Amino acid sequence: MSEGSGPNHPQPPVQAGGLASVMPDPTATVPFSTWIFDLDNTLYPAESRLWPQIDLRITLFLSHFFGLDGLSARALQKHYYYRYGTTLNGLMAEHGIDPHPYLDFAHDIDLATLEPDPALNHAIAALPGRKLIFTNGSRRHASNVTKKLGFEEHFEAVFDIVDAEFIPKPHHVTYQRFLDQHEIDPHTAIMFEDLAKNLEVPHQLGMATVLVLPKRHDPFRESFEQKAEVASYIHHSTDDLAGFLRNIIPKPQPS
Ligand SMILES: [Mg+2]
Repeated sequence: MSEGSGPNHPQPPVQAGGLASVMPDPTATVPFSTWIFDLDNTLYPAESRLWPQIDLRITLFLSHFFGLDGLSARALQKHYYYRYGTTLNGLMAEHGIDPHPYLDFAHDIDLATLEPDPALNHAIAALPGRKLIFTNGSRRHASNVTKKLGFEEHFEAVFDIVDAEFIPKPHHVTYQRFLDQHEIDPHTAIMFEDLAKNLEVPHQLGMATVLVLPKRHDPFRESFEQKAEVASYIHHSTDDLAGFLRNIIPKPQPS
């Protein structure tokens, strides 16, 4: 493990709004053997506009389920999101719904706007060690998306909201379940996420953390979800995941 990649090492401050990431030393050896990626708005950019479709499907689900007009359904969705972390958790806690049809409905989206990402494909392929996806969404959605992006085969496993027994990130118990299920030593791991709040527990557990930011402000998401956070638990931030991954791999040194 290198200097500066765990909670016991002081991290360089991330510049607020400065998306020129704090890059690891490219001449160092790769300090991680496990690479953990969130899915939505992390492995594909917010500009792909997938998330707004899912968001809208969730609103539609609430509208059908409760017989609400769109605005009321939207207000209820925001209420659940703030109170329970996800709409699904709100629906399960307050109405005991079966989560499986909900997940199928929410993720029944058109992937036409999602382009294959050869740069990210090559960057992930070049990472040494284990690569896993850790998402609050469903396994089928993760599979559909990574297949379309062109790099599903690089990941040894997807840990989804069903594996998490429907307790979403950032609940501590879910990270522990993920680590236990896949026998991961957090001190060897680095986690990539677009939501800052989901990186606090990984930092506490000893992982290195990277906040993946949109290149431009995304009008479909809450402002707090896309700020360049300054927090001790965010070790690095980037708006170019493929570039960040390329830079983390040591370059061959001239002999
Ligand atoms: Mg995400």
